[in-house]
Amino acid sequence: MGYKTVVEDNIDILVAGAGMAGTGAAFEARYWGQDKKIVIAEKANMDRSGAVAQGLYAINTYMGTRWGENNPEDHVRYARMDLMGMVREDLLFDMARHVDSAVHQFEEWGLPLMRDPKTGAYQREGRLQIMIHGESYKPIVSGAAKKSADIIYNRICLTHMLMDEAKENRVAGAVGFNVRTGDYHVFKAKAVICAAGGASNIFKPRSVGEGAGRVWYAPWSSGSAYGLMIGAGAKMTQMENRIVLARFKDGYGPVGAYFLHLKTYTQNGVGEEYESKWFPELSKMVGKEYLDTEGQHLSHKPIPTCLRNHAFISEVNAGRGPIHMVTMEAFQDPHLEEIGWHNFLGMTVGQAVLWAATDVDPKYENPELTTSEPYVMGSHATGCGAWVSGPEDLSPEEYFWGYNRMTTVEGLFGAGDAAGGTPHAFSSGSFTEGRLAAKAACKYIDDGKAEGIKVSQEQLDKRSKEIFKPLEHYKIYRNEITAGSVNPNYINPRQGLDRLQKLMDEYAGGVTVSYMTNEKLLNIGLKKMKALEEDLEKIAAEDIHELLRAWELKHRQLSSEAVLQHTLFRKETRWPGYYYRGDFMKLDDQNWHVLTVSRRDPETGEYTMEKAPCYHLVGDEENKAAAA
Ligand code: AMP
Repeated sequence: MGYKTVVEDNIDILVAGAGMAGTGAAFEARYWGQDKKIVIAEKANMDRSGAVAQGLYAINTYMGTRWGENNPEDHVRYARMDLMGMVREDLLFDMARHVDSAVHQFEEWGLPLMRDPKTGAYQREGRLQIMIHGESYKPIVSGAAKKSADIIYNRICLTHMLMDEAKENRVAGAVGFNVRTGDYHVFKAKAVICAAGGASNIFKPRSVGEGAGRVWYAPWSSGSAYGLMIGAGAKMTQMENRIVLARFKDGYGPVGAYFLHLKTYTQNGVGEEYESKWFPELSKMVGKEYLDTEGQHLSHKPIPTCLRNHAFISEVNAGRGPIHMVTMEAFQDPHLEEIGWHNFLGMTVGQAVLWAATDVDPKYENPELTTSEPYVMGSHATGCGAWVSGPEDLSPEEYFWGYNRMTTVEGLFGAGDAAGGTPHAFSSGSFTEGRLAAKAACKYIDDGKAEGIKVSQEQLDKRSKEIFKPLEHYKIYRNEITAGSVNPNYINPRQGLDRLQKLMDEYAGGVTVSYMTNEKLLNIGLKKMKALEEDLEKIAAEDIHELLRAWELKHRQLSSEAVLQHTLFRKETRWPGYYYRGDFMKLDDQNWHVLTVSRRDPETGEYTMEKAPCYHLVGDEENKAAAA
């Protein structure tokens, strides 16, 4: 291709993606592997990469055990309730018992955490959330990880895992290309920690035209964690569990600080409280165990995120929109007004700019909220990701196969959005998961599990050809462009993305169908998805930038197919407000109180689906979690 091949050999631990989870992994790998060769490969620049790139105003997962605030069991109960029971409690507990120490380190490294002047404890936003001055959160945390790695390769888009040819189902590193130079990069490694992020821009976004870059999760989160792991044949879990967010309209400004700290609340278009009106009917759909309108559940806040969405969506569909956030009361207090603006300036500056540009002053006008398009990720209030092993001291047999956070592919570990069944990790929890994965990966290597790995030149050549094919394809066919970018021989990445988003929106329950789908629709979606997959074999890239877009799209496509397969498999509506199975409108605990697990055969592309037990390891007593 005219580009160089760069081979990095003899790596012990390859960190694939250096967002919060990847930085945690590099940091911890150095602690347990003083003599190990640790290499980071990151698509952007790790100082400002991942979902935390533009900053955060809160750390949403901090137990505060040292201040007597919460213990890990509280976190498990909270996340379990929020996800309608469907979580991996071993993984949640394991993260929660370690997360505080990560947060304390962030403070040591220079992150300004707010403190409660009366108690000296960190300033709480909600029961589990604390407030920070976090515009520079990511550069601060990545600074520590940078010191830990031997070599950092920024601007590398990883496209595939390398597979060992000596032992089946064992990872051997990864390959990709430099998004600036176009060089082919080979990383031969004993263990890989995949932390390449969740997926935005899978479902058609509400934003259009010049606003199309505005999405809730980072637009550069291309589902590469899923694309890479599915491509390697790793089992996935809970991929149907996409998340819909209630957000400030058009800027996707987050609502947590407003609801929890400023104590703002919502109203319908005619100024009424609407949420509680929908709960009696909703209780019939999900059952009393999850929403008891007569018993005490409603006094146990918070109501699961999806159920709050359901009330929002139903009220709008009943013609009483838009939904407003009542800010006019809180913003009369100058301190709260300042916090309200700071909150956006520290993490979603676009929302503040949008309000300024459209003459919205939340002190005098209650801003509009909306529900977002769905996102596929595993660190906010949802748990998509790989089926990974839990820790040996907590996990039942079905959840444990030797190394914490190792996927079903040997030597391939997952953290952050990559690890499934672990919602509510957020930034601190993702960093912590990276740490846990790295510790286990070091042990995996020390136990001699990565001995004798073999990678042939043939495998490297095959991948190289595949990676650069879109550039070749463009060169061969560019003269046949008929109008603008229309060509009978190929689609370009933008055209492919539009097609994927339309398909997912219409068949898998996006915004234009009010999050509704059914078996018939999903099967049509799967058929169209196969056709798209075939056409992506002929995608064309005009330059290296488009090559990046082409590979991001291929990762999004693999993630999306998994979403369709999982959504089809789970024959119930487990999370009303995230999506609805029109043919099974009720939650069905008798048949579906299980985790869904899939595997895509990398050779044939065929899917197999199975149910895995959903064990509840933490008792229900004192279920007052997050009664903020
Ligand atoms: P967000 O700002 O929406 O990303 O949420 C930040 C944190 O606040 C997360 O831990 C959310 O689960 C939580 N949160 C957001 N809105 C609410 C609410 N209305 N009630 C309870 N918790 C919330």
